[in-house]
Amino acid sequence: MSVLPDTKDLTDEQSATLEKAALLIINARREAGEMLRRAEIQRFDDDFFGSRCRKCGNCREFVGNDDVCRRSACRHNASQHAT
Ligand SMILES: [Zn+2]
Ligand SMILES: [Zn+2]
Repeated sequence: MSVLPDTKDLTDEQSATLEKAALLIINARREAGEMLRRAEIQRFDDDFFGSRCRKCGNCREFVGNDDVCRRSACRHNASQHAT
């Protein structure tokens, strides 16, 4: 598991870039997962390309395309899902 830099020290612009970068990763993973599903490759668990939330740990995948996960039990940033 990678360690997130201390986001408190980032400027607004830097944090926005971090979230954007995280969404790129999340979308790439979604695409990769979709590719496996289309090829009907089973046995890979959803977590294989997962973007489990680093903060709460029980959200397996980032929901939505905004800065914050839409899952009501989570609501953590994209960057926290880009593990
Ligand atoms: Zn979370
Ligand atoms: Zn989440």
